[in-house]
Amino acid sequence: MTSPHTARRSRLVAAFGQTVDALLVTRLVNVRYLSGFTGSNGALLVIPDEEAVLATDGRYLTQAAVEAPDVRRHEARAVGAALVDLAKQNGTRRLGVEAAAVTVAELDRLRGAAGDEVELVPMSPLVEPLRVVKDSGELAALRAACAITDAAFEEIVASLRAGVTERDVAWDLQAAMRRRGASGASFDPIVAFGPNSAVPHHQPSDRTLAAGDLIKMDFGALYDGYHADMTRTVVLGRAAAWQADLHSFVARVQADSVSACGPGVVPAELNRQAHDAIEGAGYRVDHGLGHGVGLEIHEDPFLTAGSGAGGLVSDVAVTIEPGVYLPDRGGVRIEDTVVVTDSGVEVLTMTPRELLEV
Ligand code: ZN
Ligand code: ZN
Repeated sequence: MTSPHTARRSRLVAAFGQTVDALLVTRLVNVRYLSGFTGSNGALLVIPDEEAVLATDGRYLTQAAVEAPDVRRHEARAVGAALVDLAKQNGTRRLGVEAAAVTVAELDRLRGAAGDEVELVPMSPLVEPLRVVKDSGELAALRAACAITDAAFEEIVASLRAGVTERDVAWDLQAAMRRRGASGASFDPIVAFGPNSAVPHHQPSDRTLAAGDLIKMDFGALYDGYHADMTRTVVLGRAAAWQADLHSFVARVQADSVSACGPGVVPAELNRQAHDAIEGAGYRVDHGLGHGVGLEIHEDPFLTAGSGAGGLVSDVAVTIEPGVYLPDRGGVRIEDTVVVTDSGVEVLTMTPRELLEV
């Protein structure tokens, strides 16, 4: 049986075709996608019809043997330069490098190793487009990450009471996810009480929770390298009429966007429909409708005005997260992680979306 990593490398080779003789992959998230290696120092040399070579240093050799058994392993500290050297010995003349991932300093090192024999060819992203469509193992990891996220929310929302701080709740969410098997949080949880909920990406502070506060929680679990992303907004005690109205409006935009999402849907168009609804109701638009999610918390495709004209296809994971923010009063965002199917979407984060009065 072909490993998922072998299959991914074959697709990569097909993607760069004859443009270069080989590709040097230095973006760690792409190294992981193509080999399984999760260490913090590594690079991968992908040569058509030959075994790929993973370079890493002594700290990670044992781990690399376990995680990436189907590539050749090469010990080096300066992993990129070592692989350029290896490519040179292998007769590579044109070596592609990930232009968006290489710093000026690293490029100097790579050039030093390349000398006059190897031409370094800056390549536009090749691995990122492959990562857009998830395979079954990736979907399983995303489902597990989202299930942990749902369970953590259920636990923490039950413990909310007046006097806790935003920082407390953010930390409790992290702990609840880790207790359930997450390797960490997808990102530092956003927990915002009262007027702070009007700041889309508020940083948890020492503000204490008081009756009548909106409570916006945007967080997710990291599981097997895959990121969940969910936002719910609840209220402590009885909701005021303006809070209930705002929440039901955002919930309707979110539900409409989820219903409208599916194969063939153009992300920019889905984004526009949601923004038209928000602006049509007299509110301001502060951010895009959503983003791809996978080995990175924000990845292609982005559900924004500037995204390309291509339609979504099956097994693409995205978030759908409209929000409306009333400065100095409060804001509501509702976000789910979904996967495009043959006929619509599968919603992976299943926490109820109606306004909870806790
Ligand atoms: Zn989020
Ligand atoms: Zn998000």
